Amino acid sequence: MENIDLNLIANLSYIVAAALFIFGLKMLGSPATARKGNMLSSIGMLIAVVAGLTAEGIVDFKYIAAGMIIGTIIGAAAARMIAMTSMPEMVALFNGSGGIASLLVGWGTLYAPAGEVVSTFTAVTVILAILIGGMTFTGSMIAYGKLSETIGSGAVVFSGQRIFNSILLIALIGSGVMLSMDPSPESVWFWAVLGLSLLLGIMAVIPIGGADMPVVISLLNSYSGIAACAAGFAINNNILIVAGSLVGASGIILTNIMCKAMNRSLANVLFSGFGTVKQGKAIEGEVKPISVEDAYYILEAANNVCFVPGYGMAVAQAQHVVKELGEILEKNGAEVSYAIHPVAGRMPGHMNVLLAEADVPYEQLVEMDEINPRIENVDVAIVIGANDVVNPSARNDEDSPIYGMPIINVDQAQTVFVLKRSMASGFSGVDNPLFFGENTRMLFGDAKESISGVVSEFGN
Ligand code: NDP
Repeated sequence: MENIDLNLIANLSYIVAAALFIFGLKMLGSPATARKGNMLSSIGMLIAVVAGLTAEGIVDFKYIAAGMIIGTIIGAAAARMIAMTSMPEMVALFNGSGGIASLLVGWGTLYAPAGEVVSTFTAVTVILAILIGGMTFTGSMIAYGKLSETIGSGAVVFSGQRIFNSILLIALIGSGVMLSMDPSPESVWFWAVLGLSLLLGIMAVIPIGGADMPVVISLLNSYSGIAACAAGFAINNNILIVAGSLVGASGIILTNIMCKAMNRSLANVLFSGFGTVKQGKAIEGEVKPISVEDAYYILEAANNVCFVPGYGMAVAQAQHVVKELGEILEKNGAEVSYAIHPVAGRMPGHMNVLLAEADVPYEQLVEMDEINPRIENVDVAIVIGANDVVNPSARNDEDSPIYGMPIINVDQAQTVFVLKRSMASGFSGVDNPLFFGENTRMLFGDAKESISGVVSEFGN
């Protein structure tokens, strides 16, 4: 009787949790409601975890409380200590944690209680949880290494790589089939599936280079959801299936958006070994640096100013002072907008998060497709630490590795200020002809210092 009640309570709680996940996800769609959405989903997860443990008869709240306290401390410390610029690496680590958690759930399920055997259906779901969870874990670790540049961010390609990967996949499927016939954690096939899955994650991500990491991150995010879904089937837990499916589906949608933003197909991203091989045409022209004072005189006279932020704004933490300059320009009579490229920065929505943190009004944010048709009316486009996302060779140079990626056409504005510290290339490692453009002025230095300089010129 007690069990039935506990199950009923758990299932009702799961429905509440699932509803909170779905509303939370929906609210993540707009910067205005994203924080609330995040909070709603976390509450849903707390309900789901407590209900799940209760349904399994793990009702010793001492352990649940201890787990919550330890988890809260780790989560709060990570959120406080990790710099905004390292957020993408943290996302990669979280994806990896999701993958390894599903792998462990699958592994644990193979230890059937005495006298019981693991059914073939359960065995198949366990194998999927181990396979997808394992490759998500090692794939995410490689993505972490590339994003943090502890390992080179370029693509690692070698001859015979595709044949090697194909053999790996065939061996993995073969081992999986053998394991499903004798699902035991002591079986040699279990270790084969485990080892090959971990290896597959590494092999899948090393050939993907620099600028394609956004797609990899969102794809791994989706994989971590699918792994959780498989783990949910393995232990017959409804909310794990629902939560896993939501993450899996939203991750795939995001991957699709990222691919579109880069004008590439998913297959092309995954299998082309992009980013190492070619460098586009040699760039000709002259670099024309500008001083803070001269930048001020031009801005003072401008009627239409568009900020185009990129990864460098996150590094410089310039978002607050950028907003301050935006307000000054508006008071000075200019129309001000902020154009956001979908893959600017190092994670999906990176620029939106920074600008929202600085309280930039949402109505001033414009998407790439919105600004490009009217960019010729912009008197000054101020590029703040963006590089790849404003590189005209993506539009003009068929030999360029980033050819075909849609960019914000700042080179077509009346005047372009590029704020960066040097002539270094961006994440993709591709040179940028924008810096040599007739209408481009380079404002060298840390973006926050340069913008602060302009702000004080307005004050003088
Ligand atoms: P980029 O990485 O192309 O360029 C950033 C620029 O910022 C650099 O050229 C750097 O130049 C400059 N910079 C760095 N620090 C500062 C500073 N303190 N002050 C001023 N400038 C600074 O950035 P984009 O945003 O244009 O493009 C994003 C790239 O990252 C794309 O290639 C994208 O594919 C990739 N990516 C995106 C992800 C996403 O999900 N959004 C995830 C992973 C990768 P300098 O050193 O000279 O100052």
